Amino acid sequence: MTTNRTFTMIKPDAVAEGHSGSIIKMIEEAGFRIIAVKKVQLTAERAGQFYAVHRERPFYQALCDYMSSGPIIPMILEKDNAVADFRKLIGATNPAQAEEGTIRKLFAKSIEANAIHGSDSDENAKIEGDFFFAGLEQY
Ligand code: ATP
Ligand code: MG
Repeated sequence: MTTNRTFTMIKPDAVAEGHSGSIIKMIEEAGFRIIAVKKVQLTAERAGQFYAVHRERPFYQALCDYMSSGPIIPMILEKDNAVADFRKLIGATNPAQAEEGTIRKLFAKSIEANAIHGSDSDENAKIEGDFFFAGLEQY
């Protein structure tokens, strides 16, 4: 089933460098509506839970340390074809390979500190959105 929602986080590097406003502006101008948003800092343990699918990868510990190194801005977004359109807007994981005009091309510093996350499927968008927002008021 295709839904019209996706999940994103502006990552610690982009928040720390003051790019949140520019990134949110690009997201809204691309036609996404913000359904839920907050600013939080994860513990390394909780970052590890979020990225559990990568736990066997060599970069897992560094990723958990990085993702818990400062505040992030998780958001649930809505738009037709949200998951695929958002992955297009953020660009490739490695900013060196990201297309011109994408968020990662503009703001990412490295393959790890790559400014923003975007869910890779409708199923994961729901799981990841609930990870940050379930139990709060309706969204
Ligand atoms: P995200 O899930 O954050 O949207 P992605 O789907 O483009 O990114 P994944 O393969 O899911 O990429 O990797 C998750 C995150 O792990 C990346 O965004 C990046 O921060 C980090 N990462 C991925 N590959 C590497 C690598 N080779 N070295 C260091 N960090 C990496
Ligand atoms: Mg991913």
